Amino acid sequence: MHCPFCGTHDTKVTDSRLVAEGDQVRRRRQCVACGERFTTYETAELVMPRVIKGDGSRESFDEQKLRAGMLRALEKRPVSAEAIEASVQRIRQTLRARGEREIHARVIGEEVMQALKRLDQVAYIRFASVYRRFQDLDEFRAEIDRLAQEPAQCPDEPRG
Ligand SMILES: [Zn+2]
Repeated sequence: MHCPFCGTHDTKVTDSRLVAEGDQVRRRRQCVACGERFTTYETAELVMPRVIKGDGSRESFDEQKLRAGMLRALEKRPVSAEAIEASVQRIRQTLRARGEREIHARVIGEEVMQALKRLDQVAYIRFASVYRRFQDLDEFRAEIDRLAQEPAQCPDEPRG
C-alpha cells in the first residue's frame, strides 16, 4: 500500500483488528519514509446481482440507494438506526442468497416493503403508496384495512 502522504511504496502495518462485528479489518499503517500514520479498512467484496430496471436496462446494485429509500419512508419514525441497518443487511443477504446474477428491481422493492412492514407500518404504507402507485383511494384503503387485520409482530412481548 502506497503512502497517501509521500507516495512511497513501502508502508508497514502497526496494528490490525477486526471491527464491525468481524466483517471488517482495520489496519493502522505507518510510512517507513515519512513516518506518517494512516488507517485502512478492508472488507470482503461480495458480489451482488445486477439490477434489471423496469425499462430493461441494467445497473449495479446500489446499497446507498436502497438505504436512502428506506430512510425516506422512515423519516421521523421511532425506529433506531441499528434496526434500519440490520434490515438493510438482511435485504442484501436475501438478495445474494438467491444466487442469481441478475435480479428485477421490483424484487428488491418487494423485499424493502417486507422489511419496512416489520420495522414500522407507517413507513411501510408511505413506501408502498409510492412504490405500488395505488391506483385510487379505495385500493389504498384496502391495503390499510388488510394491515389492520394482521396480528402485530411483537415476538418479544409476553403473552397471556
Ligand atoms: Zn510517506
